[in-house]
Amino acid sequence: MNTTVPVGAVYAPDSELDWSESLVAGTVVLDERVASNGPWSAVVRQGEVLTIVDVGGNQSADCIMYNAENTDERYSVPDTLAWQANAYVRTGTVLRSNEGRPLMTVVANEIDRQDTIGGACSKESNTLRYGHHVMYHHGCRENFLAEASRHGMGARDLVSNLNWFMNVPVEADGALGIVDGMSGPGKRVAIRAEMDVLVIVSNCPQMNNPCNDFNPTPLRMIVVTPDA
Ligand SMILES: [Zn+2]
Repeated sequence: MNTTVPVGAVYAPDSELDWSESLVAGTVVLDERVASNGPWSAVVRQGEVLTIVDVGGNQSADCIMYNAENTDERYSVPDTLAWQANAYVRTGTVLRSNEGRPLMTVVANEIDRQDTIGGACSKESNTLRYGHHVMYHHGCRENFLAEASRHGMGARDLVSNLNWFMNVPVEADGALGIVDGMSGPGKRVAIRAEMDVLVIVSNCPQMNNPCNDFNPTPLRMIVVTPDA
């Protein structure tokens, strides 16, 4: 059988894993591990800081954020990029909603740049790109749907997302690439909630292109109330 999916879509036993710690000092209010390929969500209260740890390196953490009190207000890629007049997410980037308001701010970041243009994978896009033999392999959209359903949301509530730790360079001619990541085991990003924010993450299960280095690995999510 011809397949682009490596046997056993579980991270390799010899993978280097670095669980790291919160990037910002504070009192821990949540500390969870996200299995490779799986979804996750939590409400991060205003002022709290979420650290996402790329435990195995080169793992895309696809992410959508919502106003926890009114999920009609949600993350907006064009608002975020237009306000800062830059295509990349870096320390200082304000992640804005479809109403232009700050949802979260990147307060620390251990890789050069984060992507919010490349979008999320799905079983439909995988089937178009890679063939029918991958149609039963779930993608980030399926993770988003499963996790959003726990908060009373469905397909209409999924919007363009942010990809923590994914490397999507914008070339000089404007072309986009999805290439091997710049991250590594234990690399982190820290984002502060500017209102109560529902954060939904898909630990990307993609095995057909290099966005996860063909080895999906776990994530660690740590929420702290920062030290004053
Ligand atoms: Zn994905």
